[in-house]
Amino acid sequence: MLHRNPCIASLKAGYLFPEIAKRRREFTASHPETAKPENRVISLGVGNTTEPLPPHINRGLIEGARRLGTAEGYSGYQDEGLPELRERISAVFYRGGFTIDEIFISDGAQCDIGRLQLLFGAGIQAAIQDPSYPVYVDGSVLIGAASAASEGQTGYRGIVYLPCTAENGFFPDLSRLPEHCLIYFCSPNNPTGVVSTREQLTALVKAAHDKNCVIIFDAAYSEYIRDPALPKSIFEIEGAKSCAIEVNSFSKPAGFTGVRLGWTVVPKELKYEGGESVNADWSRVSGTIFNGASNIAQYGGLAALEPEGLREIRELCDFYLGNAALIRESLQKLGISCAGDGRGGNDSPYIWAHFPGRDSWDVFNEILEKCHVITTPGSGFGPAGQSFIRFSSFGHRADMEEACRRLSRLGG
Ligand code: PLP
Repeated sequence: MLHRNPCIASLKAGYLFPEIAKRRREFTASHPETAKPENRVISLGVGNTTEPLPPHINRGLIEGARRLGTAEGYSGYQDEGLPELRERISAVFYRGGFTIDEIFISDGAQCDIGRLQLLFGAGIQAAIQDPSYPVYVDGSVLIGAASAASEGQTGYRGIVYLPCTAENGFFPDLSRLPEHCLIYFCSPNNPTGVVSTREQLTALVKAAHDKNCVIIFDAAYSEYIRDPALPKSIFEIEGAKSCAIEVNSFSKPAGFTGVRLGWTVVPKELKYEGGESVNADWSRVSGTIFNGASNIAQYGGLAALEPEGLREIRELCDFYLGNAALIRESLQKLGISCAGDGRGGNDSPYIWAHFPGRDSWDVFNEILEKCHVITTPGSGFGPAGQSFIRFSSFGHRADMEEACRRLSRLGG
């Protein structure tokens, strides 16, 4: 028989969400009263969208499927994506600042983050915000760029963790960046919900240039930004085109978590150390191991980027932001501080609540016991997440209101 890929063996067990599901099962089994509607367990734990597709965007998907059934409208492989969708993405998100061959349509941001690592191979070091969205670390392990740390050490060898804490305003100390590393950076951040300012991203781009690094910028939540002073894309920062790649997605703004559609921008200015084009390599990699996103999904994406679709995206994000505001207010009433408090509003669907001195799993258990509410323990996103809890605003409004009422039980 064949041996297992040692990179897979190096992965830490997918511990967080299975463990949460297990605790939920055990809790409901030992608390029969949770079968009653008023005592049911409500989840503020997952980052999955819950509201139906808005009508105009949905019609775009239906129309896309209809077209494929006609001789004039049929299309097969689309390589890097429908040209009109790439043009529209450039116009809507980048003020036309990219040609269509710099925009690659994908089946989602997570999938592209995993594939992008093929460009840099196993020999690189990765620098990752701590806490962070798990695919940056796990993808680095799978490609062999990171491996299990020695006994008694946390994290992985090959990964430089950049703590983002209340003390540093959830923006990392860039002096810790090693030379020649691949930086993963997410803003608005999952899990902290914090959006980096223009000054902070300017410092990030400068550090990437100074240290010969490449940034993979994850902007999956950019449409949640309401403060016009905050940048929605790394490419709003001068100099980013020669040091950054950006991934983005229709999942969270348009409810496409199950439809699957995203995009990646690889500027032609971005070059490897040896001067070769990263854009040309990405085209090669995409054409080799990915044959393009579903054409139906792409017609849905086109509808989403028409004026009516953009209005629906704004309304959908506003809905989840409304949920986030309810959660933040409930926690504030209890004197629990959250990342971004006092910054003047919510720009993210996540609330990152601080319980100083406490273990994240203990707080998770307390909230489950007292409120019958599922959350996500911050320590599951990295060592610096200890003592934090992530509340997700993806849920129906009635569930949010009920969960927020119950959170008052945490007081006293
Ligand atoms: N990036 C971040 C930060 C996310 O939180 C998520 C999903 O939760 C993704 C990417 C994945 O997006 P997609 O559905 O486009 O794969």
